[in-house]
Amino acid sequence: MRMSTKFVRAIFPGSFDPITNGHLDVIDRGMKLFDELIIAVGKSPIKNQLFTPEERVKMIKEIIQQRKMAGVSVESFDGLTVEYATKKKADVILRGLRSLTDVQYEFQLAMTNRAVAGIETIFVMTSEQYGFTSSTLIREVASLGGDLSNLIPENVYNHLQKRSKKGEMTPRKTRG
Ligand code: ADP
Repeated sequence: MRMSTKFVRAIFPGSFDPITNGHLDVIDRGMKLFDELIIAVGKSPIKNQLFTPEERVKMIKEIIQQRKMAGVSVESFDGLTVEYATKKKADVILRGLRSLTDVQYEFQLAMTNRAVAGIETIFVMTSEQYGFTSSTLIREVASLGGDLSNLIPENVYNHLQKRSKKGEMTPRKTRG
């Protein structure tokens, strides 16, 4: 049930390299709170990038279509999250929390974003089963050939499989 009648547009920014079941859990919860949710894939370089921003967007698009996620869309963005949020006329930023360690970092980030752009961040806590899932962990386990089928959506799993067949599983090193 919605708390108010105001139309609320949220952005869910992150690296999503790759999107995990933990992210999807946050998205499902966000869909209950907001009218529109834009998944915003950051283009800024990350350590040990596995998929390009374009590939990440493509995989998320597949999931949105497969699961018929109404009101959800995906885009990539460059630069500051708050600038992107302002450009999209977003009311809030959505972020997920797994642990107290997340809280410390997210608190700082949310405070900064509010101070510089006046935008609020809304946090949702993930299901306990995804409390340990991170894209970093996925990239590491994938590079070692571990079974990730419970932690990532099927299409992401298939993309990873394809990549390992081509012998490209080791994440590409990026500077920074
Ligand atoms: P970033 O690189 O900005 O941390 P991520 O793609 O790793 O981006 O994550 C985006 C958001 O999703 C962050 O708010 C992060 O805390 C959250 N998140 C990631 N994995 C999970 C998970 N398993 N459960 C809940 N939230 C998660």
